[in-house]
Amino acid sequence: MTAKGQTKTKQAKTAKGKVAKKAEVKDKQAKTKAQKKRFEVDFYRDWCKGCGICSAFCPEEVLAMNEKGEPEISKPERCIGCAWCEIRCPDFAVRVKEKKEEEVCEA
Ligand code: SF4
Ligand code: SF4
Repeated sequence: MTAKGQTKTKQAKTAKGKVAKKAEVKDKQAKTKAQKKRFEVDFYRDWCKGCGICSAFCPEEVLAMNEKGEPEISKPERCIGCAWCEIRCPDFAVRVKEKKEEEVCEA
């Protein structure tokens, strides 16, 4: 390869690296934004029959069934607000809502 060809290859690699870096930064920013959102999961206990579907479908293992066979929130900080628990509950006993800014405590 000629010196000119090598320079062009180098420039192309640098440009690729810059694009990749920019994408990485954007991805980080998006993740940070998503992490700032907090969600709240409420159960209507009277309607719940303890089937465990909500905890089985939760992709983040936020929900777990306790020894009494009731769903409970074991890792609230992991909730991504996907609402799978709400959608899948056959008895409409789960509700997911986004917390308001002032309810979110940044510790
Ligand atoms: S899916 Fe609904 S009924 Fe079943 S355990 Fe969860 S909240 Fe209760
Ligand atoms: S909203 Fe999604 S992540 Fe949060 S508890 Fe329900 S299923 Fe799990």
